[in-house]
Amino acid sequence: MKPSLRQRVLVTGGAGFLGSHLCERLLDAGHDVLCVDNFYTGSKDNLLHVLANPHFELLRHDVTFPLYVEVDEIFNLACPASPIHYQFDPVQTTKTSVHGAINMLGLAKRVKARILQASTSEVYGDPEVHPQREDYWGHVNPIGLRGCYDEAKRFSEAIVMAYHRAHGVNTHIVRIFNTYGQRMRLNDGRVLPNFIYQALTDQPLTVYGNGSQTRSFCYVSDLVEGIFRLLFTEFHEPVNLGNPSEVSILEFAREILALSGSNSTLVFKPLPQDDPKVRQPDITRARQLLGWEPKVDRHDGLRRTLEYFKQQVQNG
Ligand code: NAD
Ligand code: UDP
Ligand code: UDP
Repeated sequence: MKPSLRQRVLVTGGAGFLGSHLCERLLDAGHDVLCVDNFYTGSKDNLLHVLANPHFELLRHDVTFPLYVEVDEIFNLACPASPIHYQFDPVQTTKTSVHGAINMLGLAKRVKARILQASTSEVYGDPEVHPQREDYWGHVNPIGLRGCYDEAKRFSEAIVMAYHRAHGVNTHIVRIFNTYGQRMRLNDGRVLPNFIYQALTDQPLTVYGNGSQTRSFCYVSDLVEGIFRLLFTEFHEPVNLGNPSEVSILEFAREILALSGSNSTLVFKPLPQDDPKVRQPDITRARQLLGWEPKVDRHDGLRRTLEYFKQQVQNG
C-alpha cells in the first residue's frame, strides 16, 4: 500500500476474539495497527502470528484510563462479552464501557479520528419486537444481572451520539449479534464454546431452561468484514450486524452433536435471569448501506470452528 493510504488504526480489545480477527483484517488491508488490551479476557496467544509484523504494535493498557496516542481510526471493542465474564466483576464491566467510551471519544476528538463503538444486540434486552430493527428502543432490565453490560453499552451509544452532535466527531455504532468462530476460548462460557467443548469431551451439553430460546449466530469473518466497511461510511446511527438465520438453543445443541459425532447427552439447567427469549437481527440497513450480508452459513461455520476446538482440546 502507498504510505499515503496507510492508516494508523487503534483496536481496543484487540487481543480478544473479535478484536484479533479485526487486527488481522486491517493488517491484510495494508494498515498500521495499534492493539490496546489489558488481557482481561483476551490473550497474546490470539496475536502470536502477527507479533513479528512491523506494522503491528501491542500495548497493555486498560481503557478506563486515558490514552494519548496519535491515530487516524479507532475501533473501540474493549469489553468482556460472555455473560459469566462480564458478570464476574460488574463494576469493572460498567467502567470499561462507560469510561472506555469517554476516553476513546476524547482521543478521537483530539486527533480527529474516525471512531467505531462496538455495541450489542443486548441493547434490545428481552425484545418485544422480532426481528430487531435499529429503530426499536429495547426492553432492558437496568437493575438485573445483565444490567452492567446492557446499560453500559446503551450509555456508550448515547455518549457516542453526544460527541457526534456536540463536537462533530466522526462516529459509528455497530450492534453486534451473537458471533462465533476460531479463538473463542474453551472456557469462554458462551453457548458455542460450552457445547463444543462438552461434545468433544463426552460431557452432557448444558441446555439452560428448556432450550426454546433462540439466537442467530454469525460467523466471525462475516462480522469483521461488516465492521471494517462500516467505519469507512459517513453513517452515524447504529447498524445491526449479524446472521438472521435463527435457531433454538435445543436445536443448536443437536446440530453440534450431529456435526461432532459425539455421544454426549443433554442436561437441562436453570435459565439465567433475564435471558432473552428470542433474538434475530433485521439487517436491511447493513445490506443497503454496506452492500453486506453474511456469506458463511451455520453448518460451514460450525465445521470450521469445530476443527479449531479439536486442536485446542488436543493441545490441552
Ligand atoms: P472478548 O472477551 O474475546 O474480547 C474483549 C477484549 O477486550 C479482550 O481481549 C479483553 O481482554 C479486552 N478488555 C476488556 N476490558 C478491557 C479494558 N478495560 N481495557 C482494555 N481491554 C479490555 O469478547 P469479543 O466477543 O471479542 O467481544 C468484543 C466486543 O464486541 C465487545 O465490546 C463486545 O461487547 C462486543 N460484542 C461481541 C459479541 C459476540 O458475539 N462476540 C456480541 C455483541 C457485542
Ligand atoms: N482523553 C484521552 N486521550 C486523548 C484525549 C482525551 O484519553 O487523547 C480522555 C481524557 O482523559 C478525558 C476524556 O478522554 O477524560 C474525554 O475527553 P474530552 O476532551 O472530551 O473531555 P475533557 O478532557 O474536556 O474532560
Ligand atoms: N446457553 C445454554 N447453555 C450454555 C450456555 C448458554 O443453554 O452452556 C444459552 C443461554 O441461556 C442463552 C443462549 O444459550 O439463551 C446464548 O447464551 P450466550 O451466553 O452464548 O450469549 P447471550 O446471547 O445470552 O449473551
